[in-house]
Amino acid sequence: MLSVEQARDAVILGVRAVGDVEQVSLGEANGRFLAQDVRAQIDHPLFDNSAMDGYAVNSSDLVMHDQVLPLAGTSRCGDAPSTLTAGSAMRIFTGAPLPAGANAVVIQEEVKQAGARVVVCAPVQPGANVRRQGEDFRAGDMLYSYGRRLSALDIALLGTAGVAQLKVYRRARALVLATGDELVQPSARLKPGQIYESNRLVTALQLQDLGVVVDDGGIVRDDLAALRRVLARANDYDFVITSGGASVGDHDLVKQVFSEIGEINFWKVKIKPGKPLAFGRIGEGAHFFALPGNPVSSLVTFKLFVEPAIYAWNHAAPIQLQLKATAVDGFHRSAGRTEFLRAHVYARAGTLYARALSAQGSHMVGALRETNALIRVEAEDRGFERGDQVAVIPLVLDSWQTTPAQLATHGWQTTPG
Ligand code: AMP
Ligand code: MG
Repeated sequence: MLSVEQARDAVILGVRAVGDVEQVSLGEANGRFLAQDVRAQIDHPLFDNSAMDGYAVNSSDLVMHDQVLPLAGTSRCGDAPSTLTAGSAMRIFTGAPLPAGANAVVIQEEVKQAGARVVVCAPVQPGANVRRQGEDFRAGDMLYSYGRRLSALDIALLGTAGVAQLKVYRRARALVLATGDELVQPSARLKPGQIYESNRLVTALQLQDLGVVVDDGGIVRDDLAALRRVLARANDYDFVITSGGASVGDHDLVKQVFSEIGEINFWKVKIKPGKPLAFGRIGEGAHFFALPGNPVSSLVTFKLFVEPAIYAWNHAAPIQLQLKATAVDGFHRSAGRTEFLRAHVYARAGTLYARALSAQGSHMVGALRETNALIRVEAEDRGFERGDQVAVIPLVLDSWQTTPAQLATHGWQTTPG
């Protein structure tokens, strides 16, 4: 059985990365993976300009004229760079071009304007309050390498650098389906023995967050013919992701069909939850994951294996963010598998705390409301004590907020204000 790391490596190495590239404008590039290296088109700043509202001067003129200079001209934002009349000061605004001949800007708070003259109250160093051309980056500087997933921050930089069009990898296409005779849509009326299905939707949403275009393969019965029928389309996709039916039970059909139409790379990982999990490839370009049916196992294995696969497919280094936090409660178990506990992580006075949620059964979803991270317990470890440092994998950053009520449930006293 593979360890988590071995399985993750097998995924990353087993993925055939995309070759198809498309061109997008900057406004369409958020969340896309770069298919090119990107260099700055221009220097930034593009020209010397003022960092403050004030007066552009030559610092040696001030020394020569006892800090008093006649006022001549104005430099506003959008003005073409002008020239400072020797021995004078020029009114200037933040971002406006520094006139040729000036080497500093005196901030307006340090200047008294007396008629057509300015009196500068303090000594001025050359270069003061000047943003130098190219001090941020130069035309031709390498800004990004291919495989980088672009964020809104990157779009800001690329826009400033004059990059309007980008080559990115085409979006991955995925087929997502759930298997199980007991499963029905949340909109359906439950018959005895049936349960509501949610893995498909969650998987699809997580894929969409990674920029993947998802087709819904529906709920498929535990039936070889039905599975074969749906998976006959597998080659139209870059990823086929199923949930359920992957264990060694009687209805272990998904693995069987995948082994008929493709090649299974591995199908067992030494983790809890999520041990029965298959990864492999169908033909040249299609990859499959048979995730476990238990909703929590499905979430955990998605994070551990599917997310890195999507990154690898996009020529990107997978995110493997792991933080250290202080355990709020102890947790004890028998050693054996690497375990991922649903946890609530929060910061208090600059320290990160993690609380393992109480209901850890892989069928228990009630605790997802508070889950924003996983605590990782190494295979050989038997748990941890309150106050120990534990390894934490962040999940849902939007829910890293902490309310006083949550703090109170963790035993912390909070006082308003
Ligand atoms: P399986 O992996 O098919 O053996 O399923 C393991 C457990 O997860 C069983 O209790 C199933 O009823 C449940 N399960 C399987 N698929 C889903 C799903 N899509 N949504 C909710 N529960 C599921
Ligand atoms: Mg099943």
